[in-house]
Amino acid sequence: MSINIKVITADNSGPTTNNGTNTYIIGDQELIIIDPGPKSESHFSNIRNYINNRPVKMILITHHHLDHIGLLVDLCNLTGAKIYLNKRQQKKLLEVYPNIKKHMKIMNKSITFANIIIEPIYTPGHASDHFCFRIPGEVIFTGDHIMGWSTTMIRKPDGDMGQYIQSLNKISKYTREMFLPGHGNKIVDGHKRCEELINHRNKRSNQILKILETKDLDAHEITKIIYKKISKKLVTYAELTVEASVDEMITRKLIKRKSVNNKYTYSIRK
Ligand SMILES: [Zn+2]
Repeated sequence: MSINIKVITADNSGPTTNNGTNTYIIGDQELIIIDPGPKSESHFSNIRNYINNRPVKMILITHHHLDHIGLLVDLCNLTGAKIYLNKRQQKKLLEVYPNIKKHMKIMNKSITFANIIIEPIYTPGHASDHFCFRIPGEVIFTGDHIMGWSTTMIRKPDGDMGQYIQSLNKISKYTREMFLPGHGNKIVDGHKRCEELINHRNKRSNQILKILETKDLDAHEITKIIYKKISKKLVTYAELTVEASVDEMITRKLIKRKSVNNKYTYSIRK
């Protein structure tokens, strides 16, 4: 690769973050930061040491979740760099940091910086303001849309399973670039990873259909059946993903929801 890309992984390891959030710093003399990472003293000092007083020209964020933007204000103040973002991201970000507007610059399409083209690709699903960033022929920074170690959590209402699957199809058409995720290691064959994730989602939908054939169930019961081997720490997250899946299947008119004793149960739509 002709472009210098440094990854600095934050110290926020956990059941949904793997080893921690990856912050990427692109460039040599002048730098671009993708995803500042969580609010962490040690992560901040690792980033500051790597920058080593070099000018930072631009900060990009994949989405508004705090493990990706916790250090955003600190890095703006340290470097004076502007956050380049889309209107959708601006809205979400102002909900988290109401005073950050002065650091923002709207970016609607590709931007060229020190001969590097960076193309934002809108990929909602994990979050409604999620973007991947592509350097054509080199890499795609995939944030939490496509991760290196696990499937992505889709939490309603900001997360949307139908949009997530569409966004997987969108990214899957890029076959020349290596994927650099927000958590976990680089993905050399990104196209293959997208296919695996799409197949995984199809398999889960089919599993849900199959178990609903015998009995109407709620999301908790569905989770217990299809995620038998999951660790206790992840059960809540699995249940959120099941809720997002059944929503998507209702939209496709495969199943229906009814309210029984104040809780939702699902059944096959015949
Ligand atoms: Zn996230």
